[in-house]
Amino acid sequence: MKRRLISGLFLSALAFASPAFAQEAADAVSPEGGSEGQVQGLTAEVIAALEAKMEGKPVTAQNWMVAAANPLAVEAGAKVLRAGGSAADAMVAVQVVLGLVEPQSSGLGGGAFLVWYDAATGKMTTLDGRETAPLEATHRLFHDENGEPLKFFDAVVGGLSVGTPGTPALLEEAHRRWGRSPWPSLFADGIALAEDGFLVSPRLAGLVEKDAERLSRFPVTAEYFLPDGKPLEQGQRLMNPDYAETLRTLASEGAAGFYGGEIAAGIVSTVRGAEGNPGVLSGIDLALYQVIEREPVCATYRAYEICGMGPPSSGALTVGQILGMLDGYDLAAMGPEDVQSWRLIGDASRLAFADRGRYMADHDFVPMPTNGLVDPSYLSERGGLLNESEALIDVAPGNPAFDHASNWADDESLELPSTSHISIVDQFGNVLSMTTTIENGFGSRLMTNGFLLNNELTDFSFKTHRDGVPIANRLEPGKRPRSSMSPTIVMQDGAPVLAIGSPGGSRIIGYVAKSIIAWADWDMDVQQALSLPHLVNRFGTYDVELGTAAEGYADQLTALGYEVNPRDLTSGLHAIEIGDVLIGGADPRREGIALGE
Ligand code: GLU
Repeated sequence: MKRRLISGLFLSALAFASPAFAQEAADAVSPEGGSEGQVQGLTAEVIAALEAKMEGKPVTAQNWMVAAANPLAVEAGAKVLRAGGSAADAMVAVQVVLGLVEPQSSGLGGGAFLVWYDAATGKMTTLDGRETAPLEATHRLFHDENGEPLKFFDAVVGGLSVGTPGTPALLEEAHRRWGRSPWPSLFADGIALAEDGFLVSPRLAGLVEKDAERLSRFPVTAEYFLPDGKPLEQGQRLMNPDYAETLRTLASEGAAGFYGGEIAAGIVSTVRGAEGNPGVLSGIDLALYQVIEREPVCATYRAYEICGMGPPSSGALTVGQILGMLDGYDLAAMGPEDVQSWRLIGDASRLAFADRGRYMADHDFVPMPTNGLVDPSYLSERGGLLNESEALIDVAPGNPAFDHASNWADDESLELPSTSHISIVDQFGNVLSMTTTIENGFGSRLMTNGFLLNNELTDFSFKTHRDGVPIANRLEPGKRPRSSMSPTIVMQDGAPVLAIGSPGGSRIIGYVAKSIIAWADWDMDVQQALSLPHLVNRFGTYDVELGTAAEGYADQLTALGYEVNPRDLTSGLHAIEIGDVLIGGADPRREGIALGE
């Protein structure tokens, strides 16, 4: 049992948790009228879960739980779990509904990483369903005719940035390994919602409005998100018959119906025919796509093993580095209100990001010091650098032990937030943590067969070399772009105790590390840990969450030598603590919930 001594002052200052939000979210997914019995009618338990979140209270359950970014998706997963399905089954149902109701964040046209704890064998498995660079892509894909890197959004919008989607293959592989429910049954809610329509949520409507110009560039995308030239409105009923058709094909033919046949042909022609910015994805790329099982990466923190997705994700390595460097410091005694806690966390993060920028990439293509980066003696040496009282002046990569000799230059790549995180525990004790993405909000803005295509290739470094030294995360054909996604399962004494993850571009790493610290060291329950205002440092400014108590640290952080930047920090953390009971939390910054029985 964890101690729960909550530091009152900081928590009571959770300023952004507006109760109106719960009502707004509830309104947005309520049926328009009471008589039609639509799938999206909000049940009493969904309303209770939304309210609990906004009051900062966790949800508890005995048997199973699912936490994800949209109530309709959570309900689809809950139905599967209630009927005796596994966490892998529920994940399929959640993902196909997310791809419909939260299309800007993840879907069939994207990729994902999945971490699975198997109760029967006690084994942890990680599956890499990351998008892959087309075979026709070269180092020069994101260069202009003068060899200069393209501007970020010039590369993102259109066909150039689209990698081979991995999510459909990942769904099938997870179900093949761990599924209990019939595969076609997992598509029922997605198909019904796509055919009958769902009510556009406030978040989706807001994001469409902000992105209207880019969404208007391609006719199929414009027709869906800007019907009659106007952005979708909150509460409007939206149908997606093409998506329903795609789901029917997946349900009856499996992933083969996606990677070949008409859907594949639609993807290829959309990418290669994108006006102004055609890409190079081909039918061969789709036909060759493979989910890859990888070794989990684990790092020790206090009594816990923090396990997650290794390369091509930098997630588990960087989260593990931050926590490993902090292991020698008594954050519990210092608490969340001492600015020195934030100095330690911020500088550990800066040091970890320095290593990330130099060493982390798809290790099928470049030699990496994967073990060296989370080696306890290396981390304790790096952690020693934090034994100061002010911000570090120099932050440089360290020298972790390489499996092979190598020499890399620091990278340059940008990630802007979309993405979604799903945490699930089933009645059999299996635990799933999956982060899923199409990269930028609305991905490449190209749409085909009812779903958006990713822009994941812009997660590669646009530059290939620095001063003649190659950059590890440069683009190469068949390679997978480095990610920050950090689906995590925390283990204690060989048993899973927490599933957690978040969207947020490279800030994901800070959101996840900080939430684990809040939960493990500051005795917060999962909801308190997720609701805690953000203070995040990657490699530049110390970002503090606008409109929250975090802003109150700005002066103290400035005095320690940081440049402070108050801004929105829209994480989407979803977590489940596993103990005698299941305790779930959902990020108040998004529309999701945790639900269980
Ligand atoms: N494309 C990013 C990654 O794989 C995620 C983007 C996001 O979280 O918004 O790391």
